[in-house]
Amino acid sequence: MRVKYLQCVRCGRKYPKGEIRYRCDCGESLEIVYDYEHAMGRISWDELRGRPFGHWRYRES
Ligand SMILES: [Zn+2]
Repeated sequence: MRVKYLQCVRCGRKYPKGEIRYRCDCGESLEIVYDYEHAMGRISWDELRGRPFGHWRYRES
């Protein structure tokens, strides 16, 4: 799944995917926004259903 960008869950600030960071400047954690439209053409829903969703989730430490 292609990553589009990282976005703060609180203030909504966006960070480019190339920037490896886990916290926003405001101190809140970032969530990964995936490029779903891009993925639609390549991954079927059957394939998605067969995968445990935990694998896609962002791992907080
Ligand atoms: Zn923020």
